[in-house]
Amino acid sequence: MDSSISKFYQKNRSERIQLLVERGFLTQEAGRQLLNNPLLSDAIADSMIENQIGQFPLPLGVALNFLVDQKDVIVPMVVEEPSVIAASSNGAKVIRQLGGFTTTIKERAMIGQLIFQNLVDVLAAEKLVQARSAEIIEIANLAYPSIVKRGGGVKRVETRVILNENSEPEFLTVHLIIDVQEAMGANMINTILEATVGPITEWIQGDVLMEILSNYGDCSLVTATCEIDPNQLTTSSYDGQWIAQRIVEATRYADLDPYRAATHNKGIMNGIDAVVLASGNDFRAIEAGAHAYASRNGRYQAMSNWSINEVGHLVGELTLPMPVGMVGGAISVLPLVKVNQQLLAIEKASELASVIVSVGLAQNFSALKALVSEGIQKGHMSLQMKSLAIHAGATESEIEEVVAQLKKSKKSKFSTSSENFG
Ligand code: NDP
Repeated sequence: MDSSISKFYQKNRSERIQLLVERGFLTQEAGRQLLNNPLLSDAIADSMIENQIGQFPLPLGVALNFLVDQKDVIVPMVVEEPSVIAASSNGAKVIRQLGGFTTTIKERAMIGQLIFQNLVDVLAAEKLVQARSAEIIEIANLAYPSIVKRGGGVKRVETRVILNENSEPEFLTVHLIIDVQEAMGANMINTILEATVGPITEWIQGDVLMEILSNYGDCSLVTATCEIDPNQLTTSSYDGQWIAQRIVEATRYADLDPYRAATHNKGIMNGIDAVVLASGNDFRAIEAGAHAYASRNGRYQAMSNWSINEVGHLVGELTLPMPVGMVGGAISVLPLVKVNQQLLAIEKASELASVIVSVGLAQNFSALKALVSEGIQKGHMSLQMKSLAIHAGATESEIEEVVAQLKKSKKSKFSTSSENFG
């Protein structure tokens, strides 16, 4: 299956769904489900959150051209911002020419934190926990036998002494490193932590401050890399080598200036959040972990890295914590998540994590390429014109005409849209 479908963006919604069915990315039934565009049932919506009074739809689209670890994937994205999906698809199209994205995952585990205070001797307490770590693992695994049966459970115990403002040891934090298999695991981890906190508190004779998972998922790091021949980037106005060099410079700058790093990383998260949402995962958890990881060197830096390799190719690399799940939480409740999982044609949470980090890298490449050459507004505003036309009051049948007039006038402001419409 090839995820590059020519002129996909020119089709209407039902033609796009039909094409995805014909190409084997969706079953007929899933295609029908998308076409009928169901809202959540009242029962589901009411069971998900408190004080539910309605639903708040966002568009679901697909990014094309993604080749991740030699596999073509269609990437579902839920996003309200024009140009995100186009940028992702364009980036992936360039990147697939030299083999697409290659990903690596060293470990996939979550961290549960048990935080203790008011200890007589913090360092002695730490030694004691280390000495009894096998017992801790046993208690933990008994608390959630189903995950052990699935091949997961607590893998190891780590300890950290946290210094206070006067640089004195004050807190003892115990990390349980847990293999949560195909889930994101938040609730699972919290259950395990609650079972272990009692015995440990008794052994070390301190007080527990809290027990909760950590969203700083550095035991779930995923790296995506890609390689681009700069000649592919040459246009009638720009030299590809020059663009590639400036992409490298732009990343170096983002490492030095947190004001730029925040925007550099926001572009990456444009793509990542959209796939995380479409897959039913918790985007706040992913955001928190990603930004914490971007600060791991003591200051906030660019999440990605771009360099030129020995054969003169542009090489991109993005490493982020990506503890997403394929089951559990909202994933198992939202009906369209199943359809989106089908589009991705993946079964494992690790594969989903690989696709998500690849999307972040594609998004970053497209944004940087535009920023260091023609600027972001040209592409962004032409895609923004539909939203502007609607905002100015155009009805469905009038949108195309207003957009055409906007393009002709080369202006894309709300006032111009209103004039065109009015
Ligand atoms: P669940 O509580 O739904 O647990 C996962 C479920 O999936 C379990 O019931 C498990 O069954 C089942 N399951 C089926 N097959 C598998 C498999 N192969 N591997 C693993 N589990 C399987 O979800 P999570 O624990 O993943 O929690 C995720 C939710 O927690 C998210 O919605 C998130 O928003 C929320 N959350 C996030 C927090 C944070 O990020 N700080 C804090 C608190 C909650 P069984 O029980 O039989 O093993």
